[in-house]
Amino acid sequence: MSETTIDRYAVIGNPISHSKSPSIHQAFAQQTGESITYTAELVEIGKVKDFVETFAQQNGKGLNVTVPFKQDAFELATTLSERAQRAGAVNTLHIQGDVISGDTTDGVGLLNDLCKNHQQIITNKRILVIGAGGAVRGVLEPLLLQSPEQLVIANRTVSKAQQLAEDFKSFGNINACAYDELSGMTFDIIINGTSASLSGELPPLPEKLFHQNACAYDMMYAAKATPFMQWASQQGAAHTYDGLGMLVEQAAESFFIWRKKRPETQSVIEELRKQLTQ
Ligand code: NDP
Repeated sequence: MSETTIDRYAVIGNPISHSKSPSIHQAFAQQTGESITYTAELVEIGKVKDFVETFAQQNGKGLNVTVPFKQDAFELATTLSERAQRAGAVNTLHIQGDVISGDTTDGVGLLNDLCKNHQQIITNKRILVIGAGGAVRGVLEPLLLQSPEQLVIANRTVSKAQQLAEDFKSFGNINACAYDELSGMTFDIIINGTSASLSGELPPLPEKLFHQNACAYDMMYAAKATPFMQWASQQGAAHTYDGLGMLVEQAAESFFIWRKKRPETQSVIEELRKQLTQ
């Protein structure tokens, strides 16, 4: 098969050189026998539409979209999945002729990692989500569909958490508050969806938030335990996880949207973990 007839896929972002998506999707393609190419593409701010048009003309079939282009992708998609509409963001574009379908796979990614890979149960549990940015918006619906007893969102800018609680209240029991208002509450699962760990910071969380046998999940991943995971262990969390599995699981969902084949994820997570810690 010549290079020009092979279906092309890519992740777009700015910056993008750090992206692990090419190695994840190349592993999926090898595993499932799909003949595709997948590259990381640095796109200039304000040039996403031009890039997507050219990419589509050059046999581009699908894109993953990362910071800061999730909103651009949402706007240029010609159709949107229901979950992308509710999340207000798109991380996956599927190009089929003139139709560009937008979807978001972050929520499925988190749920698959938390519930399948780490065997955590959300139903009837008390869940705290910290942060109120794009990633959190994408995971609220699938979390609430698991019927937790209660879901609380806490954020530095409280109004953003309140807006999210309002937007998702039809899906279940969801409330918003400031960090200091969490004092005296306990949770079974605490999910860090802030970007504080990226700068080595920890949101100002009160002590004693973890219920017995509770779990802490940081959407960020790193070679060693993130500041949030370290804090959670000190606070008595029984299990701490980072977001590497979420990254691979959201990629698997994108791959399924494009190729209708569901790759096995465990071996890919293990290989990435090995590379990360080397
Ligand atoms: P956004 O920029 O949309 O949101 C950032 C959030 O973090 C806001 O709620 C912001 O609060 C909060 N925040 C930032 N710095 C601090 C701080 N020092 N103290 C307290 N709160 C802080 O980012 P995203 O939602 O896109 O991403 C959030 C995280 O999720 C990132 O670490 C990202 O890497 C990770 N992620 C992981 C994925 C995976 O597959 N593993 C997928 C997607 C995201 P405020 O509103 O007050 O500004």
